[in-house]
Amino acid sequence: MTSIYLDNSATTRAGDTVIEKMAEAMRICYGNPSSLHNMGLEAYNMIKASRTVLADYMNVREQDVVFTSGGTESINSAIFSLLKHKKLHGGKIISTKVEHPATLEALKYMETQGFEVVKLSVDERCQISLDELRNHIDDKTVMISIMAVNNEVGAIMPIEEIAKLKKGAILHCDAVQGFCKVDKSLYKSADIVSISGHKLHGPKGIGALYFNSKSGYDFFRPLIVGGGQEMNYRSGTENTPAVIGIGEAVREYAKNESAIRHDVITYKNRLLEAIASEIKDIRVNSTEDASPYILNVSFYGVRGEVLLHSLETEGIYVSTGSACSSKKKGSHVLRAMGIGDKWVEGAIRFSISRLNKIDEVERVVDVLKDKVEFIRKMGSFR
Ligand code: PLP
Repeated sequence: MTSIYLDNSATTRAGDTVIEKMAEAMRICYGNPSSLHNMGLEAYNMIKASRTVLADYMNVREQDVVFTSGGTESINSAIFSLLKHKKLHGGKIISTKVEHPATLEALKYMETQGFEVVKLSVDERCQISLDELRNHIDDKTVMISIMAVNNEVGAIMPIEEIAKLKKGAILHCDAVQGFCKVDKSLYKSADIVSISGHKLHGPKGIGALYFNSKSGYDFFRPLIVGGGQEMNYRSGTENTPAVIGIGEAVREYAKNESAIRHDVITYKNRLLEAIASEIKDIRVNSTEDASPYILNVSFYGVRGEVLLHSLETEGIYVSTGSACSSKKKGSHVLRAMGIGDKWVEGAIRFSISRLNKIDEVERVVDVLKDKVEFIRKMGSFR
């Protein structure tokens, strides 16, 4: 049985050229980038080349891109950097109720350090109110931290609008589900952008942080100190193969951006169209203008977890929400959207990638229809 992987917001399969380049790096280019000899220099240059790829893709300065261990570290580093500045202590951080736990947990800690945290509500489209945001922004506001794309329903947040409202606050954008997926103009207006490698066909354990040093903030406080690697922003011997991997993943994406976008939109539209026409009593939790990579649908009278495992028996892999929240009770995102318990319980997230195929989509809908009917029938016998 060949598997059909539709859990690409949890993680993606590394691209073939990513794997090749990483293997080569481990086999041949294994010098320590800080070593003075040629092998060290070669590794250093490979890292520099990856940084150039990310900087060029974002059209920013190379020295403003720092490699980290992933999205979580980037987000933590951005938020905890506020602690470095005594004058910012006691300030207000504005975020939303639908952020990833990497942000929500970091904000919890900031509260214990005397910062005031305001979490904006969202409506049934998973959108914040810009008026509510405007009302909260005041002289005390030191940071606005908001995701580019919601990882559960794909809602695209109005980062550019927020940038216009922010006044003196630093705008941090968790672009983990947006980078190399949606138009970069979305998150480019942020002062700090968090990125993860494994969501874009790169390896796990690598991410990046862009921060606009030109914006005048001597802002960044390293989370990890030591040998002063990454321009003193992130110590520890660089994960050269992973850095090369994320660079290659971004390069591959940038080369094929419009074709990838076209394919992903086609798969999502077909999936949505078929589910909506073939299966009754559903609720589509992703809006039409959401990211083409994410489709969240609730099936009434079905427990998402049961459906997930039942699809798994046919080699189809989906998720009930985010990988981080799927082991906890219910989705904090769907609840924040005001969606009732019965629909929350039956939610499934299909997350697409450029590696899917249109015939996979057709098969998923056939199987899905049978499975949903079967589960509903079994439920009605109880
Ligand atoms: N932010 C969002 C929106 C995510 O979806 C994720 C991962 O699921 C993260 C942050 C954390 O990224 P990482 O897994 O690279 O730590």
